[in-house]
Amino acid sequence: MMKARPGIMDIAPYKGGDSTLPGQQRVIRLASNESPLGPSPQAVRAYRDLAGELHRYPDGGQEALRVAIAGHHKLPADQIVCGAGSDELISLLVRAYAGPGDEVLYSEYGFLMYAIAAKGAGATPVAAPERDYSADVDALLARVTPRTRVVLLANPNNPTGSLLPAAEVRRLHAGLPKDVLFAVDDAYAEYVDGGDYEDGAALVAAHDNVVTLRTFSKIYGLAALRIGWAYGPPAVIDVLNRLRGPFNTNAPAQAAALAALADRAHVAAAKAHNDRWLPWFSARVSAAGFTPLPSAGNFVLVRFPAGPATNADAACAFLNARGIIPRKMGAYGLGDCLRITIGRADEMEIVAEALDAFAAVSAGLKRRAGV
Ligand SMILES: *Cc1c(COP(=O)(O)O)cnc(C)c1O
Repeated sequence: MMKARPGIMDIAPYKGGDSTLPGQQRVIRLASNESPLGPSPQAVRAYRDLAGELHRYPDGGQEALRVAIAGHHKLPADQIVCGAGSDELISLLVRAYAGPGDEVLYSEYGFLMYAIAAKGAGATPVAAPERDYSADVDALLARVTPRTRVVLLANPNNPTGSLLPAAEVRRLHAGLPKDVLFAVDDAYAEYVDGGDYEDGAALVAAHDNVVTLRTFSKIYGLAALRIGWAYGPPAVIDVLNRLRGPFNTNAPAQAAALAALADRAHVAAAKAHNDRWLPWFSARVSAAGFTPLPSAGNFVLVRFPAGPATNADAACAFLNARGIIPRKMGAYGLGDCLRITIGRADEMEIVAEALDAFAAVSAGLKRRAGV
């Protein structure tokens, strides 16, 4: 029988959020942190405009998009490379710098793709415990060994929503050996309000072992097109350019991302929507008697009490019966939680009411069971 390289069969395949429910026509999809506003109309136009050009190869050098990203973020275009989602770039980075015998380090509730990428490269995934559902710099540094090759940190983190202050991110980097690659995953950076947060770009500029990852899947609402980018030191970008497929990002994705980047009003509207409904929804979750973790992203991780009538599985089934699809968190070792994306206003009203109803029903069930 054909045998894959060691590590690959250890991968539990990544399972995206559900998008349908059996027997339900209309569903509220809050399982994948997709933007409730969708993409910029200008991005949709740019995508459609390429319908007559599908026989053409995309620009393998990603020139126009890289220049636009560089212009917007004030970064050097030749230190940017685009990927088929930042997922692809995560895998390429890990494959490029870690292999059998090496360790890839991340925090306990870090993004699931980090462990998958490590195993796919035949490297050993190492998870450092978190404190209060947040990356713990001391715990991470304590797990650095001579075999550590890559450290991955999502900030804000998915699925917890936690935010690591700039000083802590810098302390983590400062504690790493110079030959360990530090990848800062900024997938939700656009949702964060100043404060003591900074994205990974300043660290990249100052060091030659830091790379940041960004995506058009979240605030830009282009998840279907699979487009993200990395900014890193010239040597790291050179490695990614050697390893990536020559046409890894498709032409409609490049064009739509370019147009999306220019539509600042649309990004601002998505941010304003999140600013309004994230605190509103978190307050409603608390009022219903459940525990929302503080979130800096466009989603809330909600903890449910133990017990067959009140736990996260029961809540999920209850929400599903009303056509609402949250994300189950068992794969993250957070089986007592559901992650709920901030959707449209009408959707959030419906979810909040459903949680109230679930609280009432589960309280009744518990009473009848005499618990
Ligand atoms: C969504 C997400 C990504 C990006 O995914 P792509 O769609 O592949 O660009 C990366 N990191 C984290 C933490 C995410 O939540």
